Amino acid sequence: MEKMDEKNGVASLAELRASPGYPSEDRLESGAVAVMECIQEIPCNPCESACRFNAIIVGEPITNLPRLVAEKCRGCGECIPVCPGLAIFLVDKGYSLTEAAVSVPYEYLPLPEVRATVDALDRRGKRVCSGRVIRIVNPERNDNTVVVTLAIQKKYSDQVRSFRVTDRC
Ligand code: SF4
Ligand code: SF4
Repeated sequence: MEKMDEKNGVASLAELRASPGYPSEDRLESGAVAVMECIQEIPCNPCESACRFNAIIVGEPITNLPRLVAEKCRGCGECIPVCPGLAIFLVDKGYSLTEAAVSVPYEYLPLPEVRATVDALDRRGKRVCSGRVIRIVNPERNDNTVVVTLAIQKKYSDQVRSFRVTDRC
């Protein structure tokens, strides 16, 4: 298996796919689902109690990697802002015929506007493609972690995990 990039500590897609929080390709193709990119055995579990559908299991010991019970996931995205590691995303490969929707946690200012065009970035912060902001969720309970949903070309849905606000519109 391709290993974590030792230079910048970013996990490879193969490593993430092999982890218990990453949904299968079949589940990804079947509609919006949480994608948990958490592969460090650290004492952490707020994602488990955030999911009211019991689709996330950490259990005991608390250092277990979170496991996604993908068939229970309703794609609500409520687990995204509770993760202190900003390691949970929502991917909807069926957003349209040509586009996927990817929801990411975002803690920078300024926030983009809905319908803005942004630079969609990969896990290393490198530009992948343009993205269009289609939703911003920012209730007080999210404690300044905003969930931004981008529409991007479907073929990039396994790569895009962040974005950068641009001046383009
Ligand atoms: S997206 Fe919703 S249903 Fe799915 S794991 Fe997260 S909180 Fe649970
Ligand atoms: S809250 Fe985030 S960092 Fe903590 S166990 Fe869950 S996915 Fe991992």
